[in-house]
Amino acid sequence: MSINYKDYIADVPDFPEKGVIFRDISPLMENGAAYACATDEIVTYAKSKGAEMICGPEARGFIVGCPVAYKLGVGFAPARKKGKLPRETVSVNYDLEYGQAALYMHEDAVKPGQKVLVVDDLMATGGTIAATIELVEKLGGIVVGTAFLIELKDLHGREKIKDYDMFTLMQY
Ligand code: IMP
Repeated sequence: MSINYKDYIADVPDFPEKGVIFRDISPLMENGAAYACATDEIVTYAKSKGAEMICGPEARGFIVGCPVAYKLGVGFAPARKKGKLPRETVSVNYDLEYGQAALYMHEDAVKPGQKVLVVDDLMATGGTIAATIELVEKLGGIVVGTAFLIELKDLHGREKIKDYDMFTLMQY
């Protein structure tokens, strides 16, 4: 089935602040055919990379990554914000436009040498995905690729992860 994915993205001006156009993926998730199609494309990419595990950051990385993991028959490892994971964690700090943030993973979430595909809904500056990649590598995982529904090209996030292969369904 051929789908124009952008038909399922809501462009929301001035959210979360004035001058920003928020790309809302909710309509895509809410449409079974579009969600399945997007998932299948990422599954095909993940297979081509030999992914043995999917990892994604809170919270929309779960929405994209979990169905991919299910379809591939592999696990999903979440990267979460502070205070959410109950056992021993590793963490990475990263810069936001204003201030700092941190992501955490359970220290046994990824096995050394495991081939991991890192996914999120959208790449803007690349900070979130770079932090997630760093976490996976701290655990000894091998990042075989990255996948997104959307890339915001003007923010040049791709430069932050230029050593990694990248798959995107839509670019703005
Ligand atoms: P980055 O770290 O600057 O690349 O920002 C990417 C993160 O922010 C992702 O986890 C996205 O979910 C979220 N994000 C930033 N802008 C948008 C947007 O326009 N729509 C949906 N999510 C966004």
